[in-house]
Amino acid sequence: MAVLLSTKPAVMEEWRAALLALDPTLDIRLYPEVGAPQDIEAAICWTSHDLADLRRYPRLRLLISMGAGVDHLLRPPGPPPGVAVARLKDELLTTAMGEWVLLNVLRFHRQDLEYRDQQRQRIWRELPAPETARRRVGFLGLGELGAHAAGLCRSLGFPVLGWTRTPRSLPGVECFHGPEGLAAMLPRCDILVCLLPLTPQTRGILNARTLSLLPRGAYVINGARGGHVVDADLLAALESGQVAAAALDVFDPEPLPPDHPYWTHPRVIVTPHAASITIPRSVAPQVVENLVRLREGRPLIHLVDLARGY
Ligand code: NDP
Repeated sequence: MAVLLSTKPAVMEEWRAALLALDPTLDIRLYPEVGAPQDIEAAICWTSHDLADLRRYPRLRLLISMGAGVDHLLRPPGPPPGVAVARLKDELLTTAMGEWVLLNVLRFHRQDLEYRDQQRQRIWRELPAPETARRRVGFLGLGELGAHAAGLCRSLGFPVLGWTRTPRSLPGVECFHGPEGLAAMLPRCDILVCLLPLTPQTRGILNARTLSLLPRGAYVINGARGGHVVDADLLAALESGQVAAAALDVFDPEPLPPDHPYWTHPRVIVTPHAASITIPRSVAPQVVENLVRLREGRPLIHLVDLARGY
């Protein structure tokens, strides 16, 4: 059984080494040097891989994402029929996203943009004291990443709300679900954090209508996917003051084009899809576990529900 590995050239060798360290018998082929197409039974792919290429491997059975997201594997034309798709679930990924969310929640809560601006102008002026118990933080998505980040905010004393597709209950989190739940939750979010998967249902979810439902002067934090945001609508909401500031880690397209208004916007924090970066050494055990299960015909782990898209 051969395994196709396809990612940025800079990290290809690191991935191969991490997998071989756990199972030296693995036959890993670095794309595009894959040898005979009929050897390939599993593929580990990141965003750059052309999905049409995956139709060249007649015995392909499993596609593993190199991150928590799988939208890059489900976009048209999608995975070849009959091929299972697995995601990663990893403590380091979850921890890192939690840190990035907290960094930005605290940045906005503690008026850091305003104080930096004052510092540039040598202005010594106290702003109104922020009150943690009155700053409501809402999460779109309470999955692996959202639930953890929500728990961190809760532990600091922020009132936390969360929105999911199906009903959820999470200690200390006021939960909402479905379209009516979204309309009910948004007016109560002083800070809105998006940690949804990108699916046909969630694409463009941060748009003029949903942003207008937030309290005036709310903050938006997007660590999920660029496709969740209608950029023109967010820029208009920033312009009007409906949204006070945004922290964005993900964009459509990536890299963010050099002339994009986000780069220089005084109320937008840009990070280069770096909120939570997969560390091959950390995720290798679950990838190898799935490859061994595939080889032995046992049930696979961390499978994605292709119908719901995550
Ligand atoms: P999960 O699949 O574990 O959780 C997804 C959550 O979103 C669930 O709570 C789910 O609801 C909810 N959801 C999905 N569809 C809808 C919908 N239509 N309406 C309402 N809620 C919905 O995902 P993760 O937490 O692991 O990851 C989330 C995303 O974060 C990834 O898909 C990826 O795009 C992004 N990501 C970004 C990274 C970065 O560095 N910026 C790194 C890693 C991931 P329910 O509970 O009902 O199923």
